Amino acid sequence: MVDLIIIGGGPAGYHAALKASKEGLTTVLVSDGRMGGVCLHSGCIPSKTVLHSTNLSRDHGDFAIYGGPHPVDLPVLRERISGIVNTLERGITSKLARNNVRILDDVAEILPNRDKYFTIKAGSEILMSRYLLIATGSKERSIDIPGVEKVHRVTSSDLLDCESIPQSLLIVGAGSVGIEMGTAFARMGSQVTIVEQNDRIASNFDSDLTRILCQELEKEGIAIFTEATVSRFKHGTAEIVHKGTHHSVPADRVLFALGRSARSDIEGLSDLNIATSDDGNISVTSCGETTQPHCYAAGDVTGNPMLAHAAYSEAERVIDHILGKTVSPNHPHIPSVLYSSPELASVGLSESDATYQGIPVVVKRRPLGGNGRFLAETSGERGICKVVIHAENGQILGVHLAMPHASELIIAATIMVAQKLTARDLANCIFPHPTMGEIIKQCIVEEI
Ligand SMILES: Cc1cc2nc3c(=O)[nH]c(=O)nc-3n(C[C@H](O)[C@H](O)[C@H](O)COP(=O)(O)OP(=O)(O)OC[C@H]3O[C@@H](n4cnc5c(N)ncnc54)[C@H](O)[C@@H]3O)c2cc1C
Repeated sequence: MVDLIIIGGGPAGYHAALKASKEGLTTVLVSDGRMGGVCLHSGCIPSKTVLHSTNLSRDHGDFAIYGGPHPVDLPVLRERISGIVNTLERGITSKLARNNVRILDDVAEILPNRDKYFTIKAGSEILMSRYLLIATGSKERSIDIPGVEKVHRVTSSDLLDCESIPQSLLIVGAGSVGIEMGTAFARMGSQVTIVEQNDRIASNFDSDLTRILCQELEKEGIAIFTEATVSRFKHGTAEIVHKGTHHSVPADRVLFALGRSARSDIEGLSDLNIATSDDGNISVTSCGETTQPHCYAAGDVTGNPMLAHAAYSEAERVIDHILGKTVSPNHPHIPSVLYSSPELASVGLSESDATYQGIPVVVKRRPLGGNGRFLAETSGERGICKVVIHAENGQILGVHLAMPHASELIIAATIMVAQKLTARDLANCIFPHPTMGEIIKQCIVEEI
């Protein structure tokens, strides 16, 4: 008998295991995939490694460094990815071992409940625990389009591990995965088309940011069709219906980047009578508890923002709740990042959220065109900083960035929003010069 069994070794599962065990709970982590989950093996880390190489390969000529072109060497890049992934995986496994977490490399099945404990089967082992955490993640979604069997479908993991660059790549869906893959493969020479049924790409970001991104992607030669659908596939081509007009586009490879759905098809889960949504997401309270007492879920399987850092935060809340600590009913602010060029990053309220919620706000915008560091490090690109401030008390409610390093700068912005800083607080802070981050202070403070 142990205190806690965790199913799934992705960010939610391993983070929860480490915290639980550090806090004194005897913990077993069962995972059928390599430790680190999708994030480490086919998501966050491989995709950013590829993007870094393709960014360098594209940019060198713009900065007075000659001797190109410098194409990406795929076999070397794949080796680089596996080196990074192995290093990180070793780090996670050794931390788990140092903290006495028992790891079982197997598929977990939930056996019928005989008493108040949970019974889990993993390979030939049967284990019992007082608490159960389901952190089984998510899987790629797809849709059925006539003729789809005639094209070469790929997943994002296939692309991150591919041995040759497709001549043309059709991406259905312009969310983070679609745009990141499209950017990387366009830079490696594929003819990329992105089809999105919404009226804009990356629609979870502010429209001032996505307008800039759309222009930059088109400058890279990516064809973008919004308010469009793929009506059918033929051999090597796709037919797109865009505002009533039909277009035929090349599609040597097709990626469905339509978001992900919960991996809640765990053997025996239905016996626990846990409520799930129509999409299969496991329903949880703000502390991560399911409708079955002492059974928790965290990470992508809950359908909450499917992000690794959201998974970490949910895992921490679960362990705090098990330990009887007070867990705030309000989730902390979760920043969103799109690792495109320029990067997009947002935290807190957007202008449209504020309008919808009837919150009186002042919205400040500042283009990056006058920022020295931006001009030194970019070539003909555009960027913007947009800040949403409470009109009455000056509190910084949201920060939205389209610029290089936005993913790093949003960390400071997250602290501003989480700590409820005001424009006046920022006036008393000194930001280093020349930096791109100066734009945030200039945007907020200049007019008070
Ligand atoms: C291409 C791509 C890029 C991404 N980039 C980012 C990014 O830049 N930033 C970001 O925050 N997020 C990113 N994500 C999302 C991120 O990867 C996920 O949000 C994160 O991995 C979720 O963690 P998790 O622990 O919930 O699940 P997962 O990482 O999916 O891990 C779940 C684990 O559980 C195992 N499992 C499932 N069922 C069982 C079972 N029955 N028994 C035993 N084990 C089981 C699985 O094999 C898996 O190892 C990206 C995703 C993709 C696909």
